[in-house]
Amino acid sequence: TVTSLVSTGEVGTPSGKLSSLGDEKAHAQTFHALQERVNSVNQEVCEAGDENSFFVCDLGEVQRLHAYWRAKLPRVHPFYAVKSNPNPKVLQLLAQMGVNFDCASKSEIEMVLELGVCPSRIIYANPCKASSFIRFAKDKQVRKSTFDNVEELAKIKKYHPDSELLLRIATDDSTAKCRLSTKYGCAMENVDQLLAKVKELGLNMVGVSFHIGSGASDFSTFYKAVRDAREVFDRASGRFGLQNVRILDIGGGFQLETFGESSYALNVALEEFFPPRDGEEAVTIIAEPGRFFAASPFTLACHVIAKRAHNDRESMLYINDGVYGNMNCILFDHQEPLPRVLYHDQRFHYLDDKATSPKKSPSCQIKASIWGPTCDGLDCITKEYYFKHDLVVGDWLYFPVLGAYTSSAATQFNGFEQAVDIIYINSASEL
Ligand code: PLP
Repeated sequence: TVTSLVSTGEVGTPSGKLSSLGDEKAHAQTFHALQERVNSVNQEVCEAGDENSFFVCDLGEVQRLHAYWRAKLPRVHPFYAVKSNPNPKVLQLLAQMGVNFDCASKSEIEMVLELGVCPSRIIYANPCKASSFIRFAKDKQVRKSTFDNVEELAKIKKYHPDSELLLRIATDDSTAKCRLSTKYGCAMENVDQLLAKVKELGLNMVGVSFHIGSGASDFSTFYKAVRDAREVFDRASGRFGLQNVRILDIGGGFQLETFGESSYALNVALEEFFPPRDGEEAVTIIAEPGRFFAASPFTLACHVIAKRAHNDRESMLYINDGVYGNMNCILFDHQEPLPRVLYHDQRFHYLDDKATSPKKSPSCQIKASIWGPTCDGLDCITKEYYFKHDLVVGDWLYFPVLGAYTSSAATQFNGFEQAVDIIYINSASEL
């Protein structure tokens, strides 16, 4: 049952907000996997790179997230946004659970098709596609895709006229950390022009899509976007006589911490603008969640490779992953990874979660800045963090909730490998 999958307790963020759905046992399993790996590395004698950063991925968390989604948004079928983390095991598990896929490019489509997923379960949700990629989609029978401009319609008419098209509208994403409507989405005042073009070219428009931006804090934007989508449905079928418009795609922008609020706002809007008819859905409602499924299953562990001590209370720590690697999310995605101490020298072996704090506190008085391994001054994970103990070279830190928009955008800048190891566990395997 959902309640057995979803624990409601607070799981250790400084803000007290939910950062994962796992219970204490699930957390202990992740911690155990981290410890086991760290124990197997002896920095005194290991091969170059054996102490590289690594992830622990809890596939049980993916299962819990799916159950949570179904409980809160039972009317909405998720199409996982592959870009957020294209991890093959996560993709496979999602596919098995019946989740479909939002792909942004040729290689994401290939990745999903290689899992044996039927092309009808893919939406090519990039409104500005290369012509050759459109031909590729046709070749692979991927029909669903989004558009937001007249030129895209001309390309689609030429290269993939059987496409099932969703018109993407712009949203008010002013509260989102990562705004998308500055780049994509048709303004409501220009929608008629697009609908007229669809009609003129005889293309098959099947739906309307939007994205409220990633990391939004004001979910009234969902209400406005669903209301605007309803308006486009009505105009399409009314004035323009487009009779196949039957899919509402509400995009991504969900995160676990705020899922209660966002799903509530969305359900209110769906009930008002897209109510079921005689107990049946009048339209198919889909979404493109990325961060929601990708973030909390992954924990990153990093080795302290160097240290510059200013005094016995203040130092600079250098670790072997940073903003050019898996923590590019600091620059690109406005994330603030949360360092925890995994292992501190022989004396304190495996500390608990409370050993760090973003602010000076009675138990955390030792200040450190944390830096990545490249020679670039920009490669800084945090300018200021507080620890209970003065860390030393050879210690390990870990960063929970670090699966979304991390490994998917890591570079090899300065020659640092980004093909980090991933240790898989499943804390829900007994279910
Ligand atoms: N769909 C589209 C078209 C996107 O551009 C993105 C993110 O950039 C997503 C879905 C996933 O968004 P999120 O990770 O906020 O759920």
